[in-house]
Amino acid sequence: MKRDAQMINKEKSSDVKRCVRCVMPENYPGITLNPEGVCNFCRYFEGRWRSWSDNTEEQAKSKAKLERIFENAKRKGKRYDALLGISGGKDSSYCLYICKEVYGLNVLTCTRDNGFMSEEGKERVNKLIQIFDVPHLYYADPFSQELAGIFMRKTGNFCAPCELFSFNIHAMLAREYDIPLIVMGSSSRTDGAPPKKLNPWDPWYFRNVLKGESFKERLNCSFYANYIIKEGLTRLLGHRRMILLPDYLDWDEKQIARMFEEKYGIHFGHEHSDCLVDDLKDYLYARKCGGTSTRAVKYSLLIRTGRMSREEALEKLSEEDYSIPPASLDYFLEIVDMSREEFEAASEKSPEAYLSIISRIFNAIRLRIRKQAA
Ligand SMILES: [Zn+2]
Repeated sequence: MKRDAQMINKEKSSDVKRCVRCVMPENYPGITLNPEGVCNFCRYFEGRWRSWSDNTEEQAKSKAKLERIFENAKRKGKRYDALLGISGGKDSSYCLYICKEVYGLNVLTCTRDNGFMSEEGKERVNKLIQIFDVPHLYYADPFSQELAGIFMRKTGNFCAPCELFSFNIHAMLAREYDIPLIVMGSSSRTDGAPPKKLNPWDPWYFRNVLKGESFKERLNCSFYANYIIKEGLTRLLGHRRMILLPDYLDWDEKQIARMFEEKYGIHFGHEHSDCLVDDLKDYLYARKCGGTSTRAVKYSLLIRTGRMSREEALEKLSEEDYSIPPASLDYFLEIVDMSREEFEAASEKSPEAYLSIISRIFNAIRLRIRKQAA
């Protein structure tokens, strides 16, 4: 039975009509192909990033802009110039390298354990803070796993609490320590994010999902309390700046991984190996995206930036199988105290039922800020 499902899945994935330039299939949420067969993600990328990617002069300009931002942060003379979240993954590690090693910023680093952080990820974080000799704060909230279960049961997606936790930690620490600059390692040019409507995490959405749950007081005392609005205002008034580092610099992940291996003896493993349920997240997104996970979005970005061939991406996609859940499901079910049947039923659900108009406006703004197509 399983075998049949796998075969059908593979046939389906090879049958689906895809963009002729990248590998996005036309049944993915938000994808439209033009008469030439080029998808809107590729067309958006052309308009937003092509000239930057092809033009070393433009890249030099954005590097100079980044240097000015760093100089401004230093000039403020605060205890720390910048705040950096480090997960033990490639992108945040490279941010640390750039900020501390290349530009000599005085950085405060932090790590949030979303309740599913791997030992591998924790070890890498420990190594990084020793190598770069930076102050580091570690945050875990016992609420995280419980919230992951609630969000899974109600919305078919368990990532929202982790996303909000991460934002709040940055906002809280930047305010607490009066840090003028927050540096992030994720950008729509380098990261394959899921469709926004499937992964909302704004406070209005959060509140809607948790309506009727009985732990309001605990929530208010946790890291899930609302910071977004205050932080947005602070940035609007110019007190603080948040930058997505890959928007300013060339970001070759293979080179980054090689550099960390050779220079520091750090091995990154597979993508997002800091989260133990990352493949389960992929499985859930694939179910809601016509059988395609966010990995296809990532491969498509690599194709657009000339770092992967279309053939290689198609080959990788043909090896992926989302007809059966990954092994991490059992671990997840145990942590959130859920049965397989409950999980199956919940995975049909979507966050959309909890999205208010204000959430939709907020998510539209997020797309503009991240310069993301959909
Ligand atoms: Zn495309």
